[in-house]
Amino acid sequence: MSDVIQLLPDHVANQIAAGEVVQRPSSVVKELLENAIDAGADVIKLIVKDAGKTLIQVIDNGKGMSVTDARLSFERHATSKIRNADDLFQLNTKGFRGEALASIAAIAHVELKTKQEVDDVGTSIVIEGSEVTSQDVVVTPKGTSISVKNLFFNMPARRNFLKSNTVELRHIIDEFHRVALAHPNISFSLFNNGSETFNLPVSNYRQRIVNIFGNKTNEKLVPVEEDTEVLKISGFVGKPEFAKKTRGEQYFFVNNRFIKSAYLNHAILSAFEGLLKTGTHPSYFLNLKVNPQTIDINIHPTKTEIKFDDEHTLYAILRSAVKHSLGQFNIAPVLDFERDATLDTPYNKNNVGTSPPKIEVDSNFNPFQEAKPKHGRQTTTFKQTPDNWDSLYVGLESKSNGEPSDFSELTFESEEKTSALFEENETSDTANSTFQLHNKYIISAIKSGMLVIDQHRAHQRILYEDFLKDITVKEGVSQQLLFPLELHFSSQEMEIVKHLQQDLEHTGFVFSNVTDESIEIKGVPVTVPESEISIILEQLISDVQNEVPDANFSATDLLAKSMAKSLAIKTGQSLQKDEQEHIVNKLFACKEPNVSPTNRVTFITVGTDELDKKFI
Ligand code: ADP
Ligand code: MG
Repeated sequence: MSDVIQLLPDHVANQIAAGEVVQRPSSVVKELLENAIDAGADVIKLIVKDAGKTLIQVIDNGKGMSVTDARLSFERHATSKIRNADDLFQLNTKGFRGEALASIAAIAHVELKTKQEVDDVGTSIVIEGSEVTSQDVVVTPKGTSISVKNLFFNMPARRNFLKSNTVELRHIIDEFHRVALAHPNISFSLFNNGSETFNLPVSNYRQRIVNIFGNKTNEKLVPVEEDTEVLKISGFVGKPEFAKKTRGEQYFFVNNRFIKSAYLNHAILSAFEGLLKTGTHPSYFLNLKVNPQTIDINIHPTKTEIKFDDEHTLYAILRSAVKHSLGQFNIAPVLDFERDATLDTPYNKNNVGTSPPKIEVDSNFNPFQEAKPKHGRQTTTFKQTPDNWDSLYVGLESKSNGEPSDFSELTFESEEKTSALFEENETSDTANSTFQLHNKYIISAIKSGMLVIDQHRAHQRILYEDFLKDITVKEGVSQQLLFPLELHFSSQEMEIVKHLQQDLEHTGFVFSNVTDESIEIKGVPVTVPESEISIILEQLISDVQNEVPDANFSATDLLAKSMAKSLAIKTGQSLQKDEQEHIVNKLFACKEPNVSPTNRVTFITVGTDELDKKFI
């Protein structure tokens, strides 16, 4: 047989490599920003259009490239950063594989303009799908500008695979944050579709964090410093009482490179032990400096994972440093050595002096408290039949005044039959036939046996359908807050709030003074206790952030789900009889009582016959 093995042509090899290096626009952003940093720039500008799908441009004032280097930079394995294998262990640069530019040029239209300080004129190169289409001499300032247009133009499958602009932009902003947080000594700006989204001047680390995440962040930060032979730590952790319901602001940088490490994350969590409300996650912004020879950053193509020689020691040092800082803060909250006076925002009274982390409990909160009739909206009380919105849900006629049907032959698998089940519950005299098991399940007798309802999931279903209805008919009932509440968010988070503002208003939220960093809340839906407002909005923002929208994505649905999840009574909560009945009744008035909004089973039935069998 003749020989069959061939070497792949370069442009094919580059396309294959591109698949690894460039997953989405944000991967290009990362590579270009890192190259600019490696080039020693101290002013870096990122411009994107259509979430990077149309344009990603990075302009830096770094050292630029010679004519030859400009041309070579697009070759695979072309790098100025390592010369031999030993250099790999001494790396102080971001890049070293020499494949980013080659990969990007294989799958986009790229235009490079670059000039070194010593040269009078610079070089411009246009390259499309690995083909150089022009190379010219240009007048351009010192530094480099790279524009990447029409990403994946020659890979339609990849292009189609990209998510909505909102999602792709979020990835870009995440990447931008990571790079900007690792380099407060570099000025960064980000322009999105022509408007400036971030402008981060050179500053200290605290100021950089505040510039990114909003002024309110300042008072939440506790400094962490540690200097040992193997590990130097500097940075901040968030005060425990500001811990978020979702992991958001968690950043480790090792030798100025953003990394993910579940192991080190665990070290932080264990330092926070006993200080966090369950289900909340602390924020942290920590820079770790280790000897480059003791780490291996080459194990992952996108380089966010890292291997340490001595993980156990790092874990122990990190944990004790964070613990120490938290302890110090608890004893003396004003001891903040690195405080930048220009950042000081007035502490409110509660934060002055020594106080343990507070957990706010609203003892008056009763999730079953229904709206007082306001604005002419009909409301329900516990003993009443469920809300009369069955007209929305054809097929579930209420027979609350009718005769009990004959259930002897029913099985309870299908939806139609479960609605009938509810009717029986209503009509037969079962007022005292519910009880709660382990503060988790509501047990209710039915003719054919018993119902076991998961209280948390069932209440989620009820609230979810209520919110959906409120949003659709725009009739959510509002309760006015005695004092308007001002909440602060990062500008990225505010984008999401603004996007959902209208739907939120339909549920009963009343907003005033909406800025790029804060929102004032004057009223909330009656179902929302005041103490939960910020948690609910935070949860909502993070749910939106974590959602990967597809064609079926609906912001309304997500909002209803998120609020239902936040507000639903929890497992472990003890319920009064009338509350239990309320849940049972409302659940079976739902359109889809069988499943929670996230498609988990809400109840099961156990037939008397099944019980009988066990007693044979
Ligand atoms: P790597 O960064 O791994 O070396 P890249 O493909 O990202 O590989 O870049 C190839 C080379 O091009 C770099 O090693 C560097 O010499 C040069 N280069 C890329 N971007 C810039 C820039 N913004 N300024 C100066 N030189 C650059
Ligand atoms: Mg690079």
